[in-house]
Amino acid sequence: MIAIEHGVEIVMALANSLAKPDRMPAEFVPLTDSLHRILREDVVADSDSPRFDKAIRDGFAVRFEDLSTIPSELQVVAESRAGHSVSGIQVLPSTCCEIMTGAALPEGANAVVMVEHTERLSPGRVRILRGVRDGEGLLRKGAEVCEGERILETGKKIQIPDIGTLASVGKAQVAVSRRPRVAILATGDELVEVSQIPDAAGIRNSNSYTLFAQVTEAGAEPAMLGIARDTLEDLREKIHIGLQQDILLVSGGVSMGKYDFVEDVFAEFGVKVLFDQVAMKPGKPTVFGHCGETFVFGLPGNPVSTMVAFQMFVRPLILHLLKAGDSGSGMLEAQLDAATKRDPARTAVVPALVHFAEGGYRIRTAPWKGSSDLAGLSRANALVVIPQGEGMLGAGERVQFLTME
Ligand code: AMP
Ligand code: MG
Repeated sequence: MIAIEHGVEIVMALANSLAKPDRMPAEFVPLTDSLHRILREDVVADSDSPRFDKAIRDGFAVRFEDLSTIPSELQVVAESRAGHSVSGIQVLPSTCCEIMTGAALPEGANAVVMVEHTERLSPGRVRILRGVRDGEGLLRKGAEVCEGERILETGKKIQIPDIGTLASVGKAQVAVSRRPRVAILATGDELVEVSQIPDAAGIRNSNSYTLFAQVTEAGAEPAMLGIARDTLEDLREKIHIGLQQDILLVSGGVSMGKYDFVEDVFAEFGVKVLFDQVAMKPGKPTVFGHCGETFVFGLPGNPVSTMVAFQMFVRPLILHLLKAGDSGSGMLEAQLDAATKRDPARTAVVPALVHFAEGGYRIRTAPWKGSSDLAGLSRANALVVIPQGEGMLGAGERVQFLTME
């Protein structure tokens, strides 16, 4: 039995040795399809932003020096509107130029007075009711970004603001990592599909769906292989298909039961197993190995165990393959609200309730009936890690957790 951290090291070491530089080549996708993909180019501004000295108020472009006495009257000599050139317009002493938000500042002006602080006397004259500071009401050329400046770095997960940034520098197509394809296979004679009503001995297949969601959230592309029955023939047929993908996830059939054949079939296909027991509760019988270039996981069948094992081992692998800059575990830190019993042999990962109070996260374990209790996990909002050890972990101790929101 190996520690969780050691398991993660083994997964990452294999990822480094198996994943050749072009394993997940960059591909171009339309900007509209790029949300949450992993960027594979440094993005550089193709021009200054703003591209010219720009009004950020509707009003009058003035020389602030002319407004030392208030109110003050100025002659309106021209108009500057968004999208139109200002060449030839000049703001001389005691004159001003009517200007709209987003329009270029004409030569000679150095501030913009909001229209709300003016009174129009005639088409050619305006009374200014408030003074302005040098540079007020405008943004200077390049104030936000300079031409050639790197504004997004390779490895970044593209977020909503980044979509706008990419649009603003002309990226109609964006270079992103190809998504690893992840095959998902459920196993068990007792399983029926979601739309079916199980008989007295049956249960619905939920693992395929939580795994589908977890794979998608991690940025990979799930491929559903359905349910394999607990027979060598059926497992062979479906595992064979799964081995064609980048990653194969099999849930169930990896414990000590008489009909847990998954590891036998892995062996028939020559899967090289690197570990098959982790000091983790739930999730002890987690199997990891590879078959040629394909990463292979046998995840424990109980629904919460499957989810926890994915989060601990599969998600970091996917982020690594994607060349994501942040391939961390997603763990956050909180203070334990109440003393919690430790397990002497295994690190526990259990449903918990976390909230933010007095500048930090506070956490306590949630009522839960064990590794098949999905509803218990749905009532919680986090999974807390209680490191293995004797006795109790005291209230106030710092612990790691994963948010489930
Ligand atoms: P196993 O590891 O195959 O012995 O499965 C352990 C427990 O998890 C059993 O109670 C199974 O019925 C349950 N289980 C296995 N696969 C699934 C699944 N796909 N969806 C829901 N429960 C499952
Ligand atoms: Mg089973």
